[in-house]
Amino acid sequence: MECVLLGSGGMMPMPERFLTSVVVRLQGQLYLFDAGEGCQINLKKTKLGVKSLRVVAVSHLHGDHCLGLPGILMMRAQVPEVGPLTILGPPGIERFIRQLHESLAFFLNYPLSFLEWSEGCPEKAYEDDLVRILWGPLKHTTLCLGYRLEEHPRPGKFKPEAAKALGIPYGPLWGKLQRGEAVTLDQGGTISPNLVLGPPRPGRNICYAVDTQPNKILYRLCQDVDLAFLDGMFLPEHHEEAETKAHMTADDAARVAARAGVRRVVLVHISPRYTEEDMEKFADAAKKRFANAEIGRDLQQFTIPYREDDPSRTLASPK
Ligand SMILES: [Zn+2]
Ligand SMILES: [Zn+2]
Repeated sequence: MECVLLGSGGMMPMPERFLTSVVVRLQGQLYLFDAGEGCQINLKKTKLGVKSLRVVAVSHLHGDHCLGLPGILMMRAQVPEVGPLTILGPPGIERFIRQLHESLAFFLNYPLSFLEWSEGCPEKAYEDDLVRILWGPLKHTTLCLGYRLEEHPRPGKFKPEAAKALGIPYGPLWGKLQRGEAVTLDQGGTISPNLVLGPPRPGRNICYAVDTQPNKILYRLCQDVDLAFLDGMFLPEHHEEAETKAHMTADDAARVAARAGVRRVVLVHISPRYTEEDMEKFADAAKKRFANAEIGRDLQQFTIPYREDDPSRTLASPK
């Protein structure tokens, strides 16, 4: 699983810092979180393409999070034989796009479906063969959704000794069992995969939560994730402004991440008032609260290893 931070800024796109948006890539499929104005420019730079884009999850209807969506939709319509696209978001996201589509009459060559959050709706917003996406309302000046993307658990580790003991010949049957499929032996009898596999191994997960102050749902969505992208819009010295505008300071975000057991946190939605010289101050404020905190950079890439492939994580995970 890989993530690319397309932009790390808030409010308005700046020449050196685009608006916050994250694209997640898993087995060649893409999931996009937020699409502010100009989002497609950095998406183009990644060369990931938009054909395999399955979902766009929009946090809220503030322009810096959704004005880039029409551009993404139009860009995708340039691709022949492109598959369906699902848009997740707050109530009003469908009307916003439908009205725009009607006014501009732009070309769409793929089915577009919308799922809007509503009070009392299930925590699971979306599920496909690779992932599921959870959502919940954060604490902002308007309804703003946080997201958690979870990769499905993988079958457990294959135990060759158990397979040999059951008389399963080495070869393609081992592969099938490893993938979690039952097999039938030549001499008769069906072998269920749980006889030769260890316990299922957890998938990787990320949290995307911007434009918020800490609330219960924020903690829930980022609990124990491998990687979290969190709002860290202001320096601690501007905490009053952060409170008025319902955002977090760098140390607020790092504190949430540390308390929620996040393995690595990237602070995003940096206010346009800050310049490159302020970035060190941001990093210092965040790292004081949580060593695995960093300030997001446009087009920064993150590879998330499986926990059993990462010794530092295996040590940290509870036995
Ligand atoms: Zn914003
Ligand atoms: Zn906002």
